[in-house]
Amino acid sequence: MHPLKRTPIKDLLHAKEFNIEVNVKGWVRTKRGNKSLAFINLNDGSIIHGIQVVAELANFDENIIKLITTGSCISVTGTLVQSQGQGQAVEIQAKNIEVYGTADAEVYPLQKKGHTLEFLREIAHLRPRTNTFGAVLRIRHAMSYAIHKYFNDNGFYNIHSPIITGSDAEGAGAMFRVTTLDAMNPPKTKEGGIDYAEDFFGKETNLTVSGQLEAELAALALTKVYTFGPTFRAENSNTARHLAEFWMIEPEVAFNDLNDNMDLAEDFLKYLINYALTHCMDDLEFLEKMYENELLSRLRFVVNENFERLHYTQAVEILKECGHPFEFPVDWGADLQSEHERYLVEKHFKRPVILTHYPKQIKAFYMKQSEDGKTVKAMDVLFPGIGEIIGGSQREEDHDKLLTRIREMGIHEKDVWWYLETRKYGTCPHAGFGLGFERLILFVTGMGNIRDVIPFPRTPKNAEF
Ligand code: ATP
Ligand code: MN
Repeated sequence: MHPLKRTPIKDLLHAKEFNIEVNVKGWVRTKRGNKSLAFINLNDGSIIHGIQVVAELANFDENIIKLITTGSCISVTGTLVQSQGQGQAVEIQAKNIEVYGTADAEVYPLQKKGHTLEFLREIAHLRPRTNTFGAVLRIRHAMSYAIHKYFNDNGFYNIHSPIITGSDAEGAGAMFRVTTLDAMNPPKTKEGGIDYAEDFFGKETNLTVSGQLEAELAALALTKVYTFGPTFRAENSNTARHLAEFWMIEPEVAFNDLNDNMDLAEDFLKYLINYALTHCMDDLEFLEKMYENELLSRLRFVVNENFERLHYTQAVEILKECGHPFEFPVDWGADLQSEHERYLVEKHFKRPVILTHYPKQIKAFYMKQSEDGKTVKAMDVLFPGIGEIIGGSQREEDHDKLLTRIREMGIHEKDVWWYLETRKYGTCPHAGFGLGFERLILFVTGMGNIRDVIPFPRTPKNAEF
């Protein structure tokens, strides 16, 4: 007789057929019992719920039962039956149990429930085994899938932008250098600096901070494209919203203007949140119960309401007149702080806000200049509890205006000659934006810290796992 194939617990919990032989494999969450029975809650991560395994002690070697402790990994073969007990619809009456791996109850770090999220960050190698991280990781997967599905269904092509880049023109933050030079003894130029001509790529290279410039090159050929890749920023900001390594989704569309760009951003975000509400309900309900008691209503609200759209200048007026005691002053020309963004979203409009037409001096060189000569056609999407979730713009397609701006901002033309050439040959209006994937997951899961929505967070002084 060949061994039974494993069935995922998710399928067993939704079973329609009973009194059949099944096999499950997974990790023990709890074991309790009495003199004659052991009740084992087994979880395999296919779904947040575990399945109850009932073992009649008389049928098992006492030593096997002793090895089944919280955290151990076992394989169970038995009969799937409708449960007599409360709290679960089905259970397995075990006939045979094989122990794959024990977990010494004296030292297993997840022996008890109710660890703090801070403690779980210190055991990032084990935290996927908690209900919270199981839920977050399944939602993260669902969102990643939904992003590709949305774009594919809407005629976008996925472009793999490079991770190692020779340009540092984006100006989106400090970069991580990529080099094979000997750190102790690098080759020197005549002037005494490091000679990058000797480096692997023959020039200075870094990890990318954004795939946008490359996405633009592709959009001016394929019309609708997007990138979805890791980005790296050596910003030393220890906030609950910033990682040194995070994932970004950057659609770029030829012939779109700022309004089209806003429409796309709003439609895209609503689609993703709606996808989570349709496909991740078990996990969302768990997170709502554990962390944020208005999670589901907040998600539904965003799907159903229009985002407020207004100019930066109007937002500054609102913030100046509102009388709220902000830590940082508000002044036309200065970047808004997260407290300002959240005031607009959470207190004033009580809905997501898209701010546009920012002063050109606080935005990147590639943004399209407005007719007023002072602002650019930028847009930031601001979300409750998060602040900025998307940053984007219509791009400057006029070669001479772009070149003037590049010179004004002190960017080296030789670093962006290839970018400028797209404005020389067949240029056209186009627009795009960047969505921070982990900020989206923060919003959808209701988690409070960005370190808890990525499997292995990279932050200053932290790259252990
Ligand atoms: P912020 O002002 O919040 O630092 P930014 O303006 O520097 O963000 P952009 O360059 O516009 O960010 O990047 C696009 C999006 O990427 C942001 O809207 C945000 O969702 C996300 N993002 C930016 N920096 C980080 C980071 N360090 N960690 C996680 N997500 C980030
Ligand atoms: Mn931004």
